[in-house]
Formats: sequence, structure tokens, C-alpha cells
Amino acid sequence: MGFFCGTNRSIAPGDYVSRTKHVMSTTPLIDGHNDMPFLIRIELKNHIYDKRFTFREGLLSPTDLIKLRTGGVGGQFWSAYMPCDDRVADNFNTPTDLLRDTLEQIDVSKRLFEEYEELEFCRNSSCVMPAFEMGRVASMIGVEGLHQIDGSIAAIREVHELGVRYITLTHNCNNVFATSATHVAAGGDDYGLSSLGRAAVFEMNRLGLMVDLSHVSIKTMEDVLQITRSPVIFSHSNARMVSDHARNAPDHVLRMLPRNGGVIMVTFVPRFVNVQDPDAADIAKVVDHIFHIVEVAGWDHVGIGGDFDAIAVYTNGLENVSCYPQLIQAVMARGATDEQVRKLLGENILRVWRANEEIGQILRECGEKPWEDVWEHRTWRRSNLVAPQMFLGSEKTRIRRPNGLP
Ligand SMILES: [Zn+2]
Repeated sequence: MGFFCGTNRSIAPGDYVSRTKHVMSTTPLIDGHNDMPFLIRIELKNHIYDKRFTFREGLLSPTDLIKLRTGGVGGQFWSAYMPCDDRVADNFNTPTDLLRDTLEQIDVSKRLFEEYEELEFCRNSSCVMPAFEMGRVASMIGVEGLHQIDGSIAAIREVHELGVRYITLTHNCNNVFATSATHVAAGGDDYGLSSLGRAAVFEMNRLGLMVDLSHVSIKTMEDVLQITRSPVIFSHSNARMVSDHARNAPDHVLRMLPRNGGVIMVTFVPRFVNVQDPDAADIAKVVDHIFHIVEVAGWDHVGIGGDFDAIAVYTNGLENVSCYPQLIQAVMARGATDEQVRKLLGENILRVWRANEEIGQILRECGEKPWEDVWEHRTWRRSNLVAPQMFLGSEKTRIRRPNGLP
């Protein structure tokens, strides 16, 4: 073994600051989840041209352009998130404004990317490295729960068309597709993935749209990992063995990741980091999660998804997006090589995204049609148009109205 770690032989292995700087300048740190668009919604009603939105000069909240630069962030999945709504708890036919609001969150994210040249909207994985090399933050959009698309697989296709590149199957409520971790933690049954949920996963595979398993129940994780044709992500979750919280993944699920090829991106939400004592959550504990995942699944299956701008108090030492280098230094101090750190930073999530794109393309080229499944209890609005009119041979059963009425 040589005396020096990694590829840069001029840096001493114990010089974690220089090693981190070097690695982060050549491999983009791609974070899996940031809720700033939701903060913009609730504090500014999405008015990003408002003088109070001092994104370039610095904001009080964890994310702004100065902190993104200090933190060496090279890529960010921005969350088009809307919370669960009691109106959809029992009857998925009840109209809501969730899809409208989700469209507004996609819109505000895209307007942000347009307004600030420091951000570059990436619809494809191949866009990330050139953006990073130009000194920009590659910016992607994720949707945080299928409750946001009104139970419709057609709507999944359309948000993909708008540029959404992952969807979390649930947030903290069940939906027509899957069971949420929060529902099970509250004592509810774990139904896993529904048959419509299976069709949704197949459709997401076909589109090349990543399936996110953060927030879902254990049976949902297992069900998805058994049927998905593409690698999955956990955009912001930790290891349950280290912190026994419902939002974290158990070991037997982590063990399924190597075969699937997916990635779990560790998060900094204090309760998920240290369920016993959230106030004591610190960088060392986050590193514990990373190394536990590595021990169970390997370095190819771990990433980072801070979940900034979602809560008021963060893990000690990881208070905002400028703090990633300190985490990377701690990972190196625990024994990781530069090559392993590069996987954690961004290589793993980029590989997963690329695989989703490639598998989607193969499925489409093989002739797999868009999935037309609908929820079995779906009601359909219709006008007073008399039907049927389309089917050959239905002339005899067709009802004709007098006086030429339609
Ligand atoms: Zn979340």
C-alpha cells in the first residue's frame, strides 16, 4: 500500500480539509432532498421577485446561494412538496387542490432556475457534470408523495413531462398506491403496495422516473424492491438499526439494495439521526448511519439527502447547506478513501439516475405501452352526452333523443 490515500498524492491522508476540498472540487455533491420551494410558498406565496427573497445576498434559512457555494453543493434535488390533506384520507374521489399546488411548486422551482444563473435546470443525468464544471448547481425536481398527483397514473406521466425526476411513493399519509411509514408507526396495518401502486412503479420505470422509498412503510419498501425493474432511491432516510425511527430503513431492506442497485441518502433531521435524544444528534451520529449502511449494503449504495428547509432545528454541526464539507471530513476521519467518498457525494445517485434513464428507454423501445390502470373506485364525471356512440355494432343499443337534442 502506498503512503498516500486517493488520487491526489500531494495531500497527506490525515489532511481531511485538503482532501475534502480536492474531492468536492472534482466530484459534485448531489443532495437528494431540499424543501426550499415549500418555504418560498409559505413565506412568500411563491413571489420570488419580492425584495425580501435575498437568495443571492443570503437568507436566514438554511439554504441560499452563498451557503450553497460555501458548502460545495454541485447538485440538488429540490422538492415540489405539498403536505398530506385530511380530505383524501378515506375517499380518494374527494376533489382537492393538491395537484394544482404541486404544479405551482414545480413552476416556482423552474422560475427560480431561470432567474438565477447559478442554478441549472437538469432534466437528464448527462446535464449534471457540465453544469458542475461551469460552477453551477445542477437543479432537479422531485415530488414528495403520490397523494400530490390525485391518484392518477396519467398525472405521473405529465409531471415527468414537466421535468420531475423522482416521486416519493407516499408522504405521511397513505394514498391509493402505497402505505406510509407514519401510518404504520401510528398503529395502522401495513398494506404495502396496492395493485395500482404496482402499475405506478412499472410506469415510473418505463418513464425513467426514479421511485423514492423515503416515507413508505417497510412492506411497501419490500414490495417495490421485489417488482421494480430499475434501481430505487431513498431521497432522505437513515438506518433503523442506528436510530429506530419509522422513517429509517431496516437492515433486511438495506441488504436488498446491492441486487437492486439503489441508493439510500442519509438525512440530517435530528429525530431520524438520533431518535433517543434528538438534541444530541451530531455529525458523528450521521457518520454512524453512513458506516452502518456501508457495512450492510456497501459503498455503492449510500448518498446524502439533508432535508434542509423542512424543519426548524437541525443536527448539531449540520445546520445549513454550507456544512457538507465538515461531514465529508468526518467521513474521511472515520477511514473512508477518496474513491469511497466520491460514491457517497454524487457518483452513486448519478449511476442510479442514469440506470433509470437507460432502463426506461429499453422498456419503451421494447414496446411497453403507458399504463392505463385506474383506481377501482374511481368515479368519472360526464356531461349529458349519450353513450355509446363509438363502438362498431352498437347502433341498436344506442338511445336517440327526440328533437335533435344531443
Ligand atoms: Zn420528507
